[in-house]
Amino acid sequence: MKSVSPDKQLQMLTKFIEVYCGKKHRTADEQLCDECAELLDYAADRLTKCPMDPKPKCKDCTVHCYDDAHRARIKEIMKFSGMYFVKRGRLDWLVKYFLN
Ligand SMILES: [Zn+2]
Repeated sequence: MKSVSPDKQLQMLTKFIEVYCGKKHRTADEQLCDECAELLDYAADRLTKCPMDPKPKCKDCTVHCYDDAHRARIKEIMKFSGMYFVKRGRLDWLVKYFLN
């Protein structure tokens, strides 16, 4: 089975957070508010420090490296930005992110 590299995952995650922050927090293009920047930082940290090798899909992972607060925010961002990509016909993003 093909898995998505952490680099690629981080790239997608960044896009999701950018869309969310831009729409929800009305930040300028490709700029994140402090809150979202912190979340991305946190997620990037978790992603690069994943102890599992090969890295499993995060949703199947047994480590649960996100704490509850960050996990809840990521979930909301995925839902919000997921809808945004669906509306723009960018289903490929979703498929890659959620089903990989
Ligand atoms: Zn934001």
